[in-house]
Amino acid sequence: AGQKQTHGFQAEVKQLLQLMIHSLYSNKEIFLRELVSNASDAADKLRFLALSDSSLYGDDGELRVRISLDEQARTLTISDNGIGMDEADVIAHLGTIAKSGTKEFFSQLSGDQSKDSKLIGQFGVGFYSAFIVAEKVTVRTRKAGLPADSAVEWESAGEGDYTISKINKASRGTEIVLHLRDGEDEFLSRWKVESIVTKYSDHISIPVEMWQEGTPEREEDGEKIPATEGHWQAVNKATALWTRDKSEITDDEYKEFYKHISHDWSEPLSWSHNKVEGNNNYTSLLYVPKKAPFDMWNREAKHGLKLYVQRVFIMDDAEQFMPSYLRFIKGVLDSSDLPLNVSREILQDTKVSQSLRKGCSSRALKMLEKLAKDSEQYQLFWNEFGQVLKEGPAEDFANKEQIAALLRFASTHNDSSVQNVALADYVSRMKEGQDEIYFLVADSHEAAKHSPHLEVFRKKGLEVLLLSDRIDEWLMQHLPEFDGKKFRSVAKGGLDLSKLDDEQTKEEQKKTEEAFASVLERFKKALGEQVKDVKVSHRLTDSPACVVTDEFDMSTQMIKLMESVGQ
Ligand code: ADP
Ligand code: MG
Repeated sequence: AGQKQTHGFQAEVKQLLQLMIHSLYSNKEIFLRELVSNASDAADKLRFLALSDSSLYGDDGELRVRISLDEQARTLTISDNGIGMDEADVIAHLGTIAKSGTKEFFSQLSGDQSKDSKLIGQFGVGFYSAFIVAEKVTVRTRKAGLPADSAVEWESAGEGDYTISKINKASRGTEIVLHLRDGEDEFLSRWKVESIVTKYSDHISIPVEMWQEGTPEREEDGEKIPATEGHWQAVNKATALWTRDKSEITDDEYKEFYKHISHDWSEPLSWSHNKVEGNNNYTSLLYVPKKAPFDMWNREAKHGLKLYVQRVFIMDDAEQFMPSYLRFIKGVLDSSDLPLNVSREILQDTKVSQSLRKGCSSRALKMLEKLAKDSEQYQLFWNEFGQVLKEGPAEDFANKEQIAALLRFASTHNDSSVQNVALADYVSRMKEGQDEIYFLVADSHEAAKHSPHLEVFRKKGLEVLLLSDRIDEWLMQHLPEFDGKKFRSVAKGGLDLSKLDDEQTKEEQKKTEEAFASVLERFKKALGEQVKDVKVSHRLTDSPACVVTDEFDMSTQMIKLMESVGQ
């Protein structure tokens, strides 16, 4: 072995290690899931590179993970023959956290462990979870294509630093040795480890093997049973989950698979698994997460589906298959129509990816429609991702009506700031003679609720949607109608509620207008250039006057929004 070098962890890694050891202790067995998941990713990555350079396999093309236990040494070792790492990889991946937004995420931590442990789940850690049960971790790794003497050993006690040295390693791939802490002996039990693997890693598509001792020749009920040799035995199903038949997959398997592909520690809210045959042949398995990732609003954050072509992993975060307003959807897409050498550039403009995108968007929307049947569950979804979905009508013209049906709003009907009114609910409550959907956009729900524009609507018993999210003005510009009914801002001119009035009211209104004609003239003179027009309003009941924008002008909120982005 060469010279040992000591390196310090990135500050965030130190924070993460501390937090993880304390807050995840009650669920410590997940370390095994994380390490097996990494080994499986490493196999996927090797297979991908070997598509263009099959020599990378050497004489070892059967990819697998092995777990071995050593009671004497009190170690648990996970070894794979996947892609492996060189020295630069080791430093980059096992000494720092490469995710975008990492610094921001850690600056949000409060120091209160119970609060922070909830946050850590959505950050998704992984390799470092080894330190929950290990007092020391040794990683020996050799990158595919590199000679035996350019392997690397990484070692750390999970405190401030780690060491790195050059070593010899006979075979390709990564071996992770956990030196178990006192009291963690349960992870030396084959039965225990096997049951953890079946629980969390059954869906891993390569074999997860454990050593099976041989038995000597013996006799049972007068029959001779031949001796068996010790051998490596797969303890998981080892077929890619999405290729299996839906009816044979349990909910728990779907949930664990989600955690594997999403790097999220919480369970998904729902999923949808589809095999499509015909013009395009593909399988998609899509998930709605329970919680928004911490970097949902970070422009550089990665999103998209995990892409496979004929079961061969091609890339993570293929964003071509999901429009941006569905960027919270996670999942796998396995296509039989794309070439194995497909690249991000090629994906950009093939007919196949366009039609896959159409198919996946439509599956995702259907999944949300299904979720919406359970209003409680859907509310959980809406509270996390509603703001993103509101980008939909502007982005996806073809599915506008379907997206509109999935939107939820606060409304004067239930007098609360909770966004839980569907447009279909609104339509079902429309008054006789009402043919438009009324809405009001304001800076806050409070401001909307107390707007003088609402007075006449309250008086007439007409429901008004109250919109106060930043995106709402943008949304309404791209949503002209729903179910054949036009949207109408109650803050704009051109509002004609006369159809809803009886003859007598109309007569009275006409009289009022005549009586105030001279007053209006004086107002116009006094206000001059500051206003476009002054009109008698029948819209107010308590307030004496209000400012409205012209039907075709930008609304006051839009003006504010434009100003805020420097227009
Ligand atoms: P994630 O899996 O979300 O990327 P992890 O903390 O689990 O995060 O792993 C960090 C990185 O370390 C991985 O992305 C990978 O590059 C590298 N890595 C971890 N385990 C292995 C392994 N067994 N083989 C090759 N690379 C690995
Ligand atoms: Mg991982």
